[in-house]
Parts: sequence; C-alpha cells; structure tokens
Amino acid sequence: MPQYHIWTVGCQVNTADSAKLAAGLRRLGMDPTDQPRDADLIVLNTCAVRQHAEDKAQAKLGSLKHLKAANPDLRIAVMGCMVGPHTARGDDPITKRFSFVDTWAQPQRFDQVVSLLDLPSLPELLDTDDDGGEFWPEIFPDNTSPTAYVPVIEGCDKFCTYCIVPLRRGRERSRPISEIAREIEAHTVRGVREVTLLGQTVEAYGKDQPPVDPAMDHADLSDLMRAIHGLPHLHRIRQLTSYPPDMTDRILEGMAELPKVCEAFSLPVQAGSDDVLTNMRRGYSVAQFRDRVDKVRSLWPEVSISTDVIVGFPGESERDFQDSYDLLAEMRFDKVHVAAYSPRTGTFAQKQQPDDVPHELKMERLHRIEDLQRDISFQINNRYLLTDVEVLLESTKRSEQEGVERHTGRTRTMKLVHFDAPIGQHQPGDMLDVTVTSVGAWSLQGVPA
Ligand code: SF4
Repeated sequence: MPQYHIWTVGCQVNTADSAKLAAGLRRLGMDPTDQPRDADLIVLNTCAVRQHAEDKAQAKLGSLKHLKAANPDLRIAVMGCMVGPHTARGDDPITKRFSFVDTWAQPQRFDQVVSLLDLPSLPELLDTDDDGGEFWPEIFPDNTSPTAYVPVIEGCDKFCTYCIVPLRRGRERSRPISEIAREIEAHTVRGVREVTLLGQTVEAYGKDQPPVDPAMDHADLSDLMRAIHGLPHLHRIRQLTSYPPDMTDRILEGMAELPKVCEAFSLPVQAGSDDVLTNMRRGYSVAQFRDRVDKVRSLWPEVSISTDVIVGFPGESERDFQDSYDLLAEMRFDKVHVAAYSPRTGTFAQKQQPDDVPHELKMERLHRIEDLQRDISFQINNRYLLTDVEVLLESTKRSEQEGVERHTGRTRTMKLVHFDAPIGQHQPGDMLDVTVTSVGAWSLQGVPA
C-alpha cells in the first residue's frame, strides 16, 4: 500500500482540513504513516498567521530535502495558508528556495495534492462538480476521537488589517445545513460525542445563503445547532471562533435554549483601546465588545470565555497597552492567548502601518499580560475545587502507578481535567462526574465522583 504522511500546524480549521484530506487519501487506497521516511506522499499543511508558524514550516521543509534526494519518487506537497496565489503560481522566492517541492496548494486545494499521485481511481475521484472551493464535500473525516471539528463556514469577509486569512482562504462560504448534519451524524455513528462547529467568524454562518423562505431571513448558527441537536448520540455542541458584531441576540438566545450547547466561547478582543481597534479595522469598539460579553454572561452565568490579544500593534502607545491590560483585568476571562504583532506579507498593515513598537517592548507587554492572566486563570479554576464536574473523557494513557490509567477530558466549560482510575474502568467517549481535588492555572485534577 502506498503511504502518506501529513504534518499540520496552525488552527483547528487546518486540523479539520488535514483530517478530510487523510480521509480522501484513505479512500484512494493509501495508508497513513507517522514516519516521513516511509511515506510516498508528504503533505505539510501550513499556517501563516504568525511568523513563528511559518518558520516552523520552513524548518520542516528543510528537513525533507535529503528524503527527496534519496527517493526521487517521493511526492512533497505544501498546502495551507502559507501558499498564496503567487506561491501557487511559482512566483514567490520560497518556491525557488525549496525547489524540490512538487506542488504548492492553496488551502483546501486537495485536488492539487492528489493529482501528484499515480493511482487508478484518481480520475473518478477528481470528477467533482463542487464549485464552492471545497473539494470532496461528501467525504467525511474518519474520526477516531470522541470529539470532532466540523467546518461550517469557510473563509472570512472581515479583512482586519493584520490578517492574512481572507487573502488565503477567500470570502465567507457556508455549507448547507443538510450536508453538515449528515457529516455530524456519520461522526456520531463512529463514536463522536462532541462536535465543534468551526468558522473564522462562526456566527457569520448562513449570511451568504438564500432565505429559508421568503418571509424569513437566512438560517443562522442557532438554526444549524437546532438542526443537529436531536442527534441521539451527540452530547455536546461547541462553536469556534466568535466575532462580536456577528453575535446577534437571536443567535445567542437561540443557542441558550439548547441544552447540548456548551457554555464556552472563544471571543477575541485583540485590543482594549478603541484607537488600536480602529487601526486594526476590527469593526467594533470596546463598548460593543463589552456589550456582547455581558449578553453572553447574562445567558450563561457559568460561561467560560477565552480571548485573543495582540500586543505591539503598529502605533500602540503605553496608554493603549494599559487599556488592553485594564480591560483584561476587569473582564477576567478564563484564558487569554496573547501574541506579539508580526507583519504578514501582503496585508494592509504590512504595507501601510509601520511596525513601530520595538521587539523588546512587545515582549515586555506580552509577559505582563501572561503574568496577569496566570493569576486570573488560577483564581477562576479555584472555584471548581471540591466540586463535581461533568467530563467527556477524550484520551487515556498509561500511568506510572501500577494497575491505573491516566485519563484526560474536558468539562462543558473547556477546562482540561486529569484523573486516574483502575485500568479498564473508563474509556474515551465516556461521560462521567469527576470531583476536583486540586487546580492549576491551566488544568484541574480529580477523582471519579
Ligand atoms: S475576523 Fe479578522 S482576524 Fe479573524 S480571520 Fe477574519 S480577518 Fe482574520
């Protein structure tokens, strides 16, 4: 059997793309391998949202050169957000630098990847009439975990000045509810108990679709959630990532009526200063962001919210940074993903907004937020101490202790929970109550209740 190896970095959308490509390659008769040296096809699914992710992909690519030299039949594909239109055309210095790469495929151009293969079933599989930019709409990933990511809307229309995503993944395109429901049903038959509906701005779901009937608007995220809510083996529904102006009262109130929808949001604020938000073209003010957080907290009093912040954006003054710091101290989110700004080639910010905050200052601001958040996360997690939490068990590994396994799962509020239990007592996919016996800033420890 020919073998493939897929290496993935970046966000959950990339993880979902890689899973779908893997399912397609298996349908073509290929087997997965963990070892690049054993593979006939190597795919690097890349991310360009931060310089660090690009550096990782380039280092990985460099390490493949000797494999290609030793085996000229090996096919190497680079896919994902590092590949822009110029790169795909070979009109980018990186394609010269890594001239041994066989194809540079933009996100979801799985057809370009499989075209490298010399397989008898290929013409049939390539004969698709899908014109939405997605390839193989009817191939669903073979999930082996109790949780699955399901893309429901591709692309992004927001064009924040620093962001490469709309330039690489195109405009917003929603998948039909019927197709998503079929995919999720197939997942549940294979043991999936929790799905995360994915979109760069997931509450934009359906905006590009025609009205359900002339008297109604288009179906939105809450309608989609309602359509899958009745699936018998599905226990939890999540959504990722939220964008404040798209979070209408109708969507949020509709979600709050559905018990399987978990009380957890990923709601990036990016900056706590209106001037910086304007320069980022985020499309909302701090007051509007605060209003959406208040709405979410009024509907789900126990909700956990994580956010993203960029420090050192062009023009960010000490006052601007302090506004971000103060907002985070006031809002007390469960988790903050903080990144130092780095310009992405081709974005408005890279062309028009000078990267004028020194690196050392960016790092100092980043560490100040990390220090603040470590304390807040610990204090929030401390509230769970000696309470029982419902956990979906996601993975199990051997424990150092004789006769015992180490389990890891998550609460509805996305808290990571570790606990030990006798071998064979629990398995991935189980839902159980765990009594929390100790907490840290990033996880909880417990024992089965
Ligand atoms: S909302 Fe802004 S940051 Fe998020 S993917 Fe779209 S353009 Fe990028």
